[in-house]
Amino acid sequence: MCPLNIVVVGSGIGGVAAAWDAVRFIPDAKVRLIGDEDIYVRHKIRYVAHGLDISLDTSHLESNGVEITRDRAIKIDRTNKTLLTEKSGEIPYDYLILATGAEPSKPPVPGGELARGFRRKEDVEYLLAERPQEVAIIGASYVALHAAQTCKDLGLLPYVIVRSRLIRKSLEPELSEELEKRLKERGIEFVHGKIKSLEQDGPVVDDGKVRADLTISATGVKPNSEIAKKAGLELWWDNVKVDKQGRTSDPRIFAIGDVSNCYDPITGRIDYFGLGTVATIMAYNSVNAIKGSKAALKTPRYQKDVFFRDIYVRSIGFTSPEAEKAGFSPNRKKIEEGDEIAYIVYDEPTGRVIGYSALSKRDSGEKDLLILRTILRGAKISEVLESMGLGA
Ligand SMILES: Cc1cc2nc3c(=O)[nH]c(=O)nc-3n(C[C@H](O)[C@H](O)[C@H](O)COP(=O)(O)OP(=O)(O)OC[C@H]3O[C@@H](n4cnc5c(N)ncnc54)[C@H](O)[C@@H]3O)c2cc1C
Repeated sequence: MCPLNIVVVGSGIGGVAAAWDAVRFIPDAKVRLIGDEDIYVRHKIRYVAHGLDISLDTSHLESNGVEITRDRAIKIDRTNKTLLTEKSGEIPYDYLILATGAEPSKPPVPGGELARGFRRKEDVEYLLAERPQEVAIIGASYVALHAAQTCKDLGLLPYVIVRSRLIRKSLEPELSEELEKRLKERGIEFVHGKIKSLEQDGPVVDDGKVRADLTISATGVKPNSEIAKKAGLELWWDNVKVDKQGRTSDPRIFAIGDVSNCYDPITGRIDYFGLGTVATIMAYNSVNAIKGSKAALKTPRYQKDVFFRDIYVRSIGFTSPEAEKAGFSPNRKKIEEGDEIAYIVYDEPTGRVIGYSALSKRDSGEKDLLILRTILRGAKISEVLESMGLGA
């Protein structure tokens, strides 16, 4: 019997997970992984500043028969089911999994192209080599804070330029405020305002200038969807449009992770989260779909990060302002336990728990996972409080 040719494009977390799942779960598959970058753990790039090696060991893939090639995919021929790459030429596929990720977007202001991103190992290596003194970081996301901490660790002076509040889409407003306070105590400077333009010596914010030797943009990402677009695959905004199993408008092609959309597990609506956890779940779903299963795991918006060793930030699902935008009537329960401040967000009419965000000085252990499970199975606030020993 001919092996099933599965070609995975992109060797980030999604592509590596897809190749590993394919070789494990589809015994007659011949799996190729094609990526144009070193293979490493993207969310750990800040450790490069400390000289740590963040490479991902891929020996388990190779010893199980995955062929890994450093190459760049340039064109998909859907009629003949081949992928054209720069070095290896045409590669036939029975199934193609696109895991090409995304790139930092440039701020849409005059001079926006002057900003660097904070996504690749090279972005940290650049800071190490160039040692710019003052660094302006545009954005208030988790990634912006990773960039700020990296600068601080290197003895540089980071200024985070915030238009609204920290980690707005995932944290309750009071937690954004508290997080900013704690980060300020560690020497991170914040400038509140809107970027008007970028110049060689820093950005113009509202009517003032923030002097900087380097500006980093962490305002969002642009999916690497060009080859999919050229092949005529349907898009959702700039992302490759997929169903809940990761299947594109061509049933032989899947797209996973940052290049594609995902689905909100609470509303079931099409959405985009840009998380490594989502990329890995989507990898599993797509391989399962190739195997013939109709099932798909849900892709939750769950993030946990730690800054300066003792600022733990965790978020799951909706904040109350985001829940309102999504059509819920949110209410919140604040819980303070030891050094932890947490908010559980629930839908007032139904009591259903739809979000959680927390700030603490220590790791939360199993608690986040318990809350995550609670949210995914649609539990009510009374049940959650009872399970936490807090009554209704
Ligand atoms: C600083 C930082 C911290 C983060 N922290 C977290 C966290 O705590 N938790 C979390 O869940 N997520 C986190 N994320 C987000 C997470 O890293 C991304 O969601 C995840 O990397 C997406 O994986 P991916 O495989 O879809 O894409 P990517 O990791 O972007 O990988 C895509 C790969 O495909 C390659 N590629 C693109 N086009 C081609 C082509 N034509 N041919 C060949 N190769 C190609 C790219 O060069 C890249 O190597 C963080 C991100 C950053 C930057």
